Amino acid sequence: MPALKRHYFALLFIVATATPFSSHSLSLPEVQQGESLEHFIRETWTTRRGLPHNSVNAIVQDQSGYLWLGTWQGPTRFNGRDFTIYDDLRVTGLPDIGIFTLDINPCNGSLYVAGARGGISRYDEGQWLELKAAPPFVNQVNVDQQCNLWVASSEQGLLFYENDQRTAEFTIDNGLPSNAVYQSLIDDDGNLWAATNLGLAVKAANNTQFELIDSIPPKLIRELHRAPDGRIMVGTQEGVYRQSKGFNFDRYLPDFTASISSLHHSPAGDLWIGTYRQGVWRFRDGNMESLDVDSGLPNNHVLDITHDHEGSVWVSTHGGLVQFRDALFTSYTTAHGLSGNYVRAIFEWQGGVYIGTSNGITRIDKNGSHPVAVGTELENQSVLSFAEHNGQLVIGTYTGGAFVWDGEQIVKHYNQANGLPDNEVRKIASNNDDGLFLGGPAGISHVTADTLGLITTKHGLHNNYTTALAFDSSGTLWSGSVSGVAKIDIQHTDNGFQYQAEAVDLSQLNDAQLAFQIEEQSGYLWLATDRGLIAHKQGTDDWRIFNRDTGLPFDNFMSVAFDGKANLWIGSNRGALFIPHDAFTKTLKDPSVPLEYQRYTEVDGMSNSQINSGGPSLFQSSAGRVWFATANGASVVDPHNMSRLAETAPPAVIAQVSADGQVLSYGEQLPADIQRITFDYAGLGYLMSDHIRYQVRLLGFDEGWVNKESVTTAEYTSLPANDYLFQVRASYPGGSWSEPATFAFTRLEHFWQRPTTWVLSAFLLALITFIIVRTRIRFLNRSRHQLELMVKEKTTELEAIARQDPLTGLGNRRAFDEYLQHEIKRSQRNHHTLSLAILDIDFFKQVNDRFLHTVGDQVLVELAQLLRRVLREVDYAARWGGEEFAILMPDTGLEDAVEAADRIRRAVEQHDFSKLLDDCQLTVSIGVASNQHYAEHSSLLVAADQALYQAKANGRNRTEYK
Ligand code: GH3
Ligand code: MG
Ligand code: MG
Repeated sequence: MPALKRHYFALLFIVATATPFSSHSLSLPEVQQGESLEHFIRETWTTRRGLPHNSVNAIVQDQSGYLWLGTWQGPTRFNGRDFTIYDDLRVTGLPDIGIFTLDINPCNGSLYVAGARGGISRYDEGQWLELKAAPPFVNQVNVDQQCNLWVASSEQGLLFYENDQRTAEFTIDNGLPSNAVYQSLIDDDGNLWAATNLGLAVKAANNTQFELIDSIPPKLIRELHRAPDGRIMVGTQEGVYRQSKGFNFDRYLPDFTASISSLHHSPAGDLWIGTYRQGVWRFRDGNMESLDVDSGLPNNHVLDITHDHEGSVWVSTHGGLVQFRDALFTSYTTAHGLSGNYVRAIFEWQGGVYIGTSNGITRIDKNGSHPVAVGTELENQSVLSFAEHNGQLVIGTYTGGAFVWDGEQIVKHYNQANGLPDNEVRKIASNNDDGLFLGGPAGISHVTADTLGLITTKHGLHNNYTTALAFDSSGTLWSGSVSGVAKIDIQHTDNGFQYQAEAVDLSQLNDAQLAFQIEEQSGYLWLATDRGLIAHKQGTDDWRIFNRDTGLPFDNFMSVAFDGKANLWIGSNRGALFIPHDAFTKTLKDPSVPLEYQRYTEVDGMSNSQINSGGPSLFQSSAGRVWFATANGASVVDPHNMSRLAETAPPAVIAQVSADGQVLSYGEQLPADIQRITFDYAGLGYLMSDHIRYQVRLLGFDEGWVNKESVTTAEYTSLPANDYLFQVRASYPGGSWSEPATFAFTRLEHFWQRPTTWVLSAFLLALITFIIVRTRIRFLNRSRHQLELMVKEKTTELEAIARQDPLTGLGNRRAFDEYLQHEIKRSQRNHHTLSLAILDIDFFKQVNDRFLHTVGDQVLVELAQLLRRVLREVDYAARWGGEEFAILMPDTGLEDAVEAADRIRRAVEQHDFSKLLDDCQLTVSIGVASNQHYAEHSSLLVAADQALYQAKANGRNRTEYK
């Protein structure tokens, strides 16, 4: 640990300058935390840890919590672990990657960066916007409370940008002493201040011209700063000036004449001063402290100073970036006044904490730390153990035995000379009445006012080499040795003390043997051993061990203690393990619950992570803090401080979301064929960035929070189609969770998974079915119709055939009969007359006989043709059968009918049949009847037939009627 340079200025000077800083009076019983710069954890980042350039020209924290760094290799974003470098000019729109200055717009959180070649660019939610450049160089960008941008240009004066457009310029024409402007500032009264290479100028709110401030040397000024009280502070090449009244300035800290690069007030009210060649300084409570290369700063040239939302102070230098942060642990080494760095025992006595080192004892109390002069015999003794006995402090040493001290002088000294088996006193236990027990390599010595006994293997110990010794609340003495643990029964008899050691069998507990510390808590006895932490439920046979098998990172523990909140602390050679009270209670209740722990080391403020075995090396003070004796100093942790640090959860941010390698934007809809969705997130906390834990959940997929521990990526593959909301939250160990950062997206369905597709498909199917069925029905209908037509046609044909005489083509008897009946009914309805004639060929038998039967047929055909010719339109002739024909004459009376019939008879008689019948004349006989006399169908037919018979009988070739 490099020595800290402390500079105490005369108290006189502090009074004279009427410091505005409030003086903290901490009333902690044993330690003043944050007392000096040295008590901050100092963490440094250089190019070796990912910085793009070791010169960090400017630092600013944005509203989401990212730290932005201006470097010669471009604007750089830092989340506490990783750096994102924006060095692509095509992306940033800058003419050069060198960034010298940064500022955040308080109205919308956007970031301005500027620097080399006068480039200025604005970053807002992933987008860069290029502003009009101010070549050749921008010394400062500064956004005022009205959210307008002021650009201090190296040659063009002070430039004013409204809505990212340059609308005004202030130069020597406006009264500036120079156009080389370094910084600008608007004070609470609206006055505009400009720091130039030729001094400080101000343009009063009610004025248009700048005036030079003559109480400050007209030389280069690199820093303007507004103090918490509203006063302007000026960093010059020869120290700091502070506004006294109006536009008057006084020297501030007059003895401090360094060239100033940066001024900053921390949330605690401390003034931090960055210098050109002398590192960083802090002015607090009247004290000036500094840190330079010799005391651990990476470079003496400080470029910028700021603080983050958690109160850590960030100092950037030409050699890297340094964080000064509060830590869980406060540590003490020889640099803080310890008498030695190798610490083995810590104990509290009479309002102070006693640190036993390899080189004497140091007491730490509210007045600070100071060596304890116990007495000449103890000088340079290596201290191994402490205990209180009857109000006095017992000190066990490595080579000098044990000393009993009353705070003034040594009242007793036990060593080999007066009966101890060994001068090495590793552990001390006292139960006042029964005496003092001193454990060492040769057994346990029992000392009372007038007796001295020795407990050894003779009484049942595994081994004389005693490494642990403790009384439990029931008054039982427990001892630990290099080869086992024993319970010692002490009986006071008339013959003096009787000792009986009952060895505890630890063989079932991972073969543990060496116990270093025994503590009682929550009804359990806790033993730090070489094979794990043993918990024994008192008064039972319940013995359990916690080690690698139960989820702890290793097995060998040097010490165990509980803090004021009953949380469990385990000391090891690899740091301290912290197990919250609830966590071990849960595991004790249900062994299947793994023991939840947090490991702390140097990054958490321990001066060394190697915790010694000692008497005791872990110790709970009355204030509830736990002290650790380490190989390099003493460290202390306060459970209240833990809660305070964990209280502010690191804000969670989702840095990037990608789907199969493609960057996604919020609310995007993902095609169905996307396989993998990846979320990169971070907790933007810088107090314990190594200990940030995360939980994620994907609403729509898993409902509960999933522990991610320290993993900063979550991946999901083959998600079903749905609307999703990804959430991530962060916390420090044991702390509350941050508000979740969220990212919404939708994974679309394959088209066959979409309900619309189903509906459409069903509809299409129905439509196709409908079309097919309808087409089929139409086809069938058409076929049926055709069939019907055919049938009808055939039927008509058949019907026609059925009613026609095939030989002559006249109607047949059936047709005639139907027609006759129809006409009789009609004539009866209308009272019309109707007549019927029946015609029979005379002697037709002879025709057939003389000629051939076929000739007879042809004669019938020719006669039928003749009948058609001679009959009237209205008359209807049919072949009645054989060579007989019937003729119906509607609307014809008997007289007319006889005349018409006889005309037919004469026509036949005169017709020339010679083509068929050679030398033969054909004649017919006809009988006629009328409905005038025979109204009924059958009587009419009978009458006509009788008339025909009459005609035959009367000689043939005649017409008769009835
Ligand atoms: P009448 O009537 O004058 O008493 O003498 P007929 O010879 O005509 O008498 P009948 O009625 O006895 O004979 C009818 C003859 O007509 C019998 C048959 O040979 C002939 N005949 C009947 N139908 C057909 C036919 O379709 N074709 C031919 N070639 N002859 C037929
Ligand atoms: Mg006949
Ligand atoms: Mg005849």
